[in-house]
Amino acid sequence: MSSATSATEAAFAPIVFHWYEAEVAAIAPVTPTVKSVRLRCAIADRQRAGQHVDVRLTAEDGYRASRSYSVASPPDGSGTLELLVEGLPDGEVSGWFFDTAEVGDRLEMRGPIGGSFSWDGPDGGPLLLAGGGSGVVPLLAMLRRRAEVAPEIPAALIFSVRSRAEAIALDELEARHRDEPHFSLFLRTTREGDGRRVDDALVAAALDWTGAPGKVFLCGSNRFVSPTADLIVAAGVPAGIIRTERFGA
Ligand SMILES: Cc1cc2nc3c(=O)[nH]c(=O)nc-3n(C[C@H](O)[C@H](O)[C@H](O)COP(=O)(O)OP(=O)(O)OC[C@H]3O[C@@H](n4cnc5c(N)ncnc54)[C@H](O)[C@@H]3O)c2cc1C
Repeated sequence: MSSATSATEAAFAPIVFHWYEAEVAAIAPVTPTVKSVRLRCAIADRQRAGQHVDVRLTAEDGYRASRSYSVASPPDGSGTLELLVEGLPDGEVSGWFFDTAEVGDRLEMRGPIGGSFSWDGPDGGPLLLAGGGSGVVPLLAMLRRRAEVAPEIPAALIFSVRSRAEAIALDELEARHRDEPHFSLFLRTTREGDGRRVDDALVAAALDWTGAPGKVFLCGSNRFVSPTADLIVAAGVPAGIIRTERFGA
């Protein structure tokens, strides 16, 4: 076999992630529906901002359930990573994190996963980010990383939530809006205030702030990501620079 063939085969070989044991190091509410979960694991500190991990729970009878969660924390050398989990009614895995998990509990984790939905300083900008509900989590990781390594890169976050009380990390995002000269938050609350959804005027305002974006990341439910991507393309942003991640329902 020639070395060229080997290289091609290597490029298309499926990436196999191993499961690693993880331990709940800390758990705390961040909103009435979201908890911050710090997990100690061998794969911590390897992630690029925006990537996710898979989490696997095993019941005493051997039944297993696995789900994906974005990593909220950039690498910080602590040997832990932070997930922000929204507790869904009847949610098998989110319900366990929300109602049952305690410090010291063990589970399994693999990753980090998702190379194209990730960002680091050398990737540059400007950055246009749009998150719906818990879809803000990987974008939060990007903003935290940007503040550390490239605060001069212009960035705008369009954040759509039902209410301010349900908005993940709103205090942090509003502080960044106030304190970081090159970052701006564009918040929409769909079930309070004027109840407006993300629309062309909001996208235009965010693009006015960033100038022509170099990177665009959108994350949330299908019903958030698809119309928001359409609005951004309609505003003249090339579809090829838009990266999307969908959390499901
Ligand atoms: C790449 C990726 C990253 C993700 N990151 C996060 C994250 O950072 N934080 C987070 O909270 N979730 C995240 N999710 C969603 C997560 O993987 C699970 O789908 C979610 O926690 C529900 O799992 P569950 O076992 O609790 O619910 P299930 O038992 O699977 O479903 C319970 C009920 O909730 C509904 N449901 C399932 N998923 C969703 C959803 N995403 N939104 C609304 N309703 C749903 C189902 O239709 C069902 O009615 C991510 C998903 C992906 C693919």
